[in-house]
Amino acid sequence: MIYILYSNDYEVFLGGNYLPERDVLISTTENLLTSCDEINVPMTLFCDVTCLWRYRELGFEEFPDAVEQQLAQTIKRGHDVQAHIHPHWQGTEVSHGNDGSTSYRVDPAKFLIGNWSPTDGSSLLDFCVEVFSRAKRHLEELLTPFNPNYECIAYRAGGYGVQPNSRDIYGALQESGYKIDSSIVPGMTYETDVNRIDFNNTPSLGNYSIDPNKGLGEASDEGVFEIPVLALRNGEARWPLIKAFIRKVTKTLSSQEKHRHLGYPIQMSKEPAKKSTFTRQIIAELKVIRDGWYMLELGEDADLMVDTATRYIDQYHEDDTDLYVSISCHSKSMNPRSISAFKNFHRRLESHYGSNMRAITFQQAGQLLDQELKETK
Ligand SMILES: [Zn+2]
Repeated sequence: MIYILYSNDYEVFLGGNYLPERDVLISTTENLLTSCDEINVPMTLFCDVTCLWRYRELGFEEFPDAVEQQLAQTIKRGHDVQAHIHPHWQGTEVSHGNDGSTSYRVDPAKFLIGNWSPTDGSSLLDFCVEVFSRAKRHLEELLTPFNPNYECIAYRAGGYGVQPNSRDIYGALQESGYKIDSSIVPGMTYETDVNRIDFNNTPSLGNYSIDPNKGLGEASDEGVFEIPVLALRNGEARWPLIKAFIRKVTKTLSSQEKHRHLGYPIQMSKEPAKKSTFTRQIIAELKVIRDGWYMLELGEDADLMVDTATRYIDQYHEDDTDLYVSISCHSKSMNPRSISAFKNFHRRLESHYGSNMRAITFQQAGQLLDQELKETK
């Protein structure tokens, strides 16, 4: 069976928001969940709980209250909520403008949990166990009243940050009762002032377990079960990207559509960003094609999503085994065009794979894995 797990990193913009937090997160997520209901697909919200903790600590109750109400509704409607952690919220300064906007002052050194050195002398492992367990407790206390079987068992790292010190991070996940991780993006490499990712050497497998004692480079039979975020490794996405480029160029020439941003990322460099010109855009697109790496994030180009998803699934799925595929999005960045592309994409996947495919939540994946474990014993 091919299991498709749609997920949404449920968070505000980490640098700041141009509109009230409700408009950025609650309304956009409501639109996304409604579209999921229309196509009968469950969605897992990876909730940035650390943001809620910080808001409450600073006495800003309204936004976390609205979030928790929405999470409860999410569970009641048969969707799922799991944990997403951005540790830098600890110590982040929050200021609200008169126009409803928000800006955040962040310590970049705190962005990756693996870089933390706890001031109280405890180890990184203990610190991670404390944070992960608190997140799990928070979600379970909040959501079990609405579904007594609810459990927080899946994790997505903020900024896919499971490096450095991966062994401590996965050790802590295991110790705090997380069964599934969905933070690895195959082939992703990324380096900025705040984040550093190198997933070039993670196993080329659809799913595997990560043994905390062995780290990220080796697939194991036991440990935390990995459902990587769907991405084609370097070179593999070249052809889908060329086709997408042609579509984009012809579309750009016929109609200039502007995308409205609701917020901005963490401000990294003091240097002002270079103004984006048509030539610079084209050069950037050609570089993307040359690298041939592509992570499927729900966007506006349904053809590109179908091309990459089918390539990925056909590469990793074997007839007699289960494949769990994680497809991610950020509701804060979705607009009516990406919502309609998402519905189109899912319908086409369904007609392509028929009864060999099922969309499920991370919670359901956890139950299926438990069942499988029981049967093999
Ligand atoms: Zn995030």
